[in-house]
Amino acid sequence: MGIARSAIQRHQINLIDAKAPQMDLKDLGYRMASLEITNICNFRCQWCPYTLGRTLERSMKKEEAFYAIDQLKKCGGGQLNYLELNLLGEPLIHPHLFEIIEYAHRQNMKVKIVTNGSLFSAEMIDKLLESRPEIIKISLQALSAEGFNSVRGTPISFDEYVRRIANLIKRREDYAETILRLFN
Ligand code: SF4
Repeated sequence: MGIARSAIQRHQINLIDAKAPQMDLKDLGYRMASLEITNICNFRCQWCPYTLGRTLERSMKKEEAFYAIDQLKKCGGGQLNYLELNLLGEPLIHPHLFEIIEYAHRQNMKVKIVTNGSLFSAEMIDKLLESRPEIIKISLQALSAEGFNSVRGTPISFDEYVRRIANLIKRREDYAETILRLFN
């Protein structure tokens, strides 16, 4: 046991001491980046780090988001062509979401929206479809009222939630260029 531990320690020291090759993201490049323009969400899913830990709730100012997009583009080795909004947090809450989508499009990026789908009012659907994101991904997480009520931490009823998502799906013809993904 003692020999094994000291071998591990020696190995760790060797790793730390080893001269790590300098890596520059510009050389490596990347095609997709996720940008969390807000960490605010109207749900409180059981597993979500925001529900569990709570950080200070904040949305990026639109200028900050534009700057972040510029930097992501600059560091992506000219290969970045997909911007994902968001990873966590609910992007439809952001007051300047549509301007940010437009800005990303002007930088020749495609946009993927990842949303919990609960804010699809008629007005929101109109604005979202007008902004033409290339992908809308809806994180369902629960496929029954029971599952939904037990894990998602929202006062919205499951029936209402499904109705709002169905309202988006009914507009299929209006967003022929947009891919809709339901993700569980
Ligand atoms: S919908 Fe997403 S961001 Fe919101 S609480 Fe659930 S996992 Fe977290």
